[in-house]
Amino acid sequence: MTEQTAKQPKAQKLVGVKGMNDILPPDSAQWEWLEAQVRGLMARYAYRNVRLPIVEPTALFVRGLGEVTDIVEKEMYSFEDRLNGEQLTLRPEGTAGLVRAVVEHNLLYEGGKRLYYMGPMFRHERPQRGRYRQFHQIGAEVLGFGGPEVDAELILLASDLWKELGLKDVRLELNSLGQPDERKAHRTALIAHFEQHAELLDEDAKRRLHSNPLRILDTKNPAMAPVVESAPKLLDFLGEASLAHFNAVKAILDANDIAYRINPRLVRGMDYYNLTVFEFITESLGSQGTICGGGRYDYLVEQVGGKPAPAVGWALGVERVLELVKEQGEALAAPAPDVYAIIPDTAALPVAIKTLQVLRAAGVSAQMHAGTGEGMGSMKSQFKKADASGAAFGLIFGGDELARGEVTVKSLRDGQGAQRTERLDHVPEWAASLKSL
Ligand code: ATP
Ligand code: MG
Repeated sequence: MTEQTAKQPKAQKLVGVKGMNDILPPDSAQWEWLEAQVRGLMARYAYRNVRLPIVEPTALFVRGLGEVTDIVEKEMYSFEDRLNGEQLTLRPEGTAGLVRAVVEHNLLYEGGKRLYYMGPMFRHERPQRGRYRQFHQIGAEVLGFGGPEVDAELILLASDLWKELGLKDVRLELNSLGQPDERKAHRTALIAHFEQHAELLDEDAKRRLHSNPLRILDTKNPAMAPVVESAPKLLDFLGEASLAHFNAVKAILDANDIAYRINPRLVRGMDYYNLTVFEFITESLGSQGTICGGGRYDYLVEQVGGKPAPAVGWALGVERVLELVKEQGEALAAPAPDVYAIIPDTAALPVAIKTLQVLRAAGVSAQMHAGTGEGMGSMKSQFKKADASGAAFGLIFGGDELARGEVTVKSLRDGQGAQRTERLDHVPEWAASLKSL
């Protein structure tokens, strides 16, 4: 430090960006647990992982999601690349980027693909419970298959996940948005309906009346509920093929005892959907109750410049799912090491550390007591730290034991502090007795 900086007043504390959260221990253990459950389940369904950039060209979202959507109109973090002037956006969702990658790398060349991703998304929303500016999604997407069986497979996959996470009271809502020509007829009826009740429309709805009237059904304004409730239903405009697709999805769900409710007003927030759309909703999280949403998007691949290919997928909100886990899932024990090494004197460090390395190699989780830089601290304070760590055993590397080639193993959880000594030259033989996993 130079003399000048040393004299300056204490630096002002910098804080993170509003609505963007740090995920720290012990909460991060829940995240890792959820991610592990997802990886296992995806593997059982033969879905493969993709990892995609967080920044994409702005045009991808404008074209993919639709210009007249909440996300594109007001929620995107967009900026110009200072070096080359390119318009870029922090991804607000995962599907558009995934489709961009699938097209760019010609992934459908050999047939359909089942893919999944996990990662942060960015939307400039008003931060509140269950709604953040950086949040995380896990998404599953199936591309190249047009049949109702993959729609159903994705719903079964999500339902299995809720089961594995111990979630109850998650209900499934289902709708069909039909095909573009069916939507055209519905759109005309919808505009007529809203025009008839123009006095009941809010500003957003008035603005969207002619550009994107379907979006009005997705309103979050409770005052609009009656006029939305009485609006013409898209389901009544579906032709034979769309109805057959919808019925086939329902039949597979019925055969697998998946309960659902048809919600004719469910339209989802992006323009890319057609046919099947669905949401998983809970009443336990207040107004941010949708934990997962998805549907078919058969025209997006083409819109992004690829050879036409059908597709369907969903995305879940990790923060909301974890909050639900906390509320009704099985409680997860905070992670704790198997052993805590108590090291009375720095002279014992080399042997202690070498022993811990052998234990770790044998699968034991071992935490070393670390000193202040001026010694290891009193035994009392070391035992306190050992207890606080939650370790099942304390390993005491005392001078007398070491001189005999031994270490003391003391139980920290049984209340009686039972202890024994073990040989330092036979660590692999007793390592397993310390393992909790
Ligand atoms: P909402 O209607 O709650 O705004 P959405 O329709 O905008 O949700 P999607 O784009 O379908 O949400 O994203 C899928 C899931 O991601 C949502 O169901 C939700 O669980 C989660 N999600 C969306 N936006 C946020 C956010 N700002 N903060 C936290 N989670 C979010
Ligand atoms: Mg939203």
